Amino acid sequence: RSGRSAALRARMEERLLGARVRYLNQQLYTGSSRDAAQLFRADPAAFHLYHRGFEQQVRRWPERPVQRIARRPIRISPRYPCPTPASLVVADFGCGDCTLAASVKNQVHCFDLVPLHPRVTVCDMAKVPLAAESVDVAVFCLALMGTNLQEILGEANRVLKLGGTLMVAEVASRFEDIRAFLKAMTQLGFKTVSK
Ligand code: SAH
Repeated sequence: RSGRSAALRARMEERLLGARVRYLNQQLYTGSSRDAAQLFRADPAAFHLYHRGFEQQVRRWPERPVQRIARRPIRISPRYPCPTPASLVVADFGCGDCTLAASVKNQVHCFDLVPLHPRVTVCDMAKVPLAAESVDVAVFCLALMGTNLQEILGEANRVLKLGGTLMVAEVASRFEDIRAFLKAMTQLGFKTVSK
């Protein structure tokens, strides 16, 4: 009996965690990046809960998008003048636990709201402490959150070198209209290389 009730309790706790994570996720996608920064500053425990739930969810996926991205910086822009792909400098916006930085040889600047890992620079991704035109690849992996997307993507544009690459991995249902999103990206100065 006690084994069964422990299993039931664990299942209920997992569901509760899932619900709280969905709620936090909704807050992150429907408020500005500044609201997100404030939310986690005011309640750091919410951030750790969010990440525990995030891990729990992505563990069930057949593949973590960040792993696909980790394999890709080495294949970008064949005409881009760089001696070796590993020399490309990467900025990871909303890096979480720095899985990307840990998976590639490249120099990776890791940005997030709370340091889950010592490599993280804590900041709002709408304003990162990097010089203009200083990175080759900017990554948003499940992190294109916040209603001030134009500002956030403008920041990525600012730090990217001319001809650099922006990589976005996002849940399809987050987009109301992917074509409209890609059109807006063109207006921000990006050209779609692959979708
Ligand atoms: N890219 C990682 C983590 C994705 S979870 C991966 O794929 O594994 C989304 C991350 O974006 C979270 O760690 C969250 O804290 C971060 N994030 C959300 N809003 C942010 C903001 N305004 N500034 C910086 N990071 C933010």
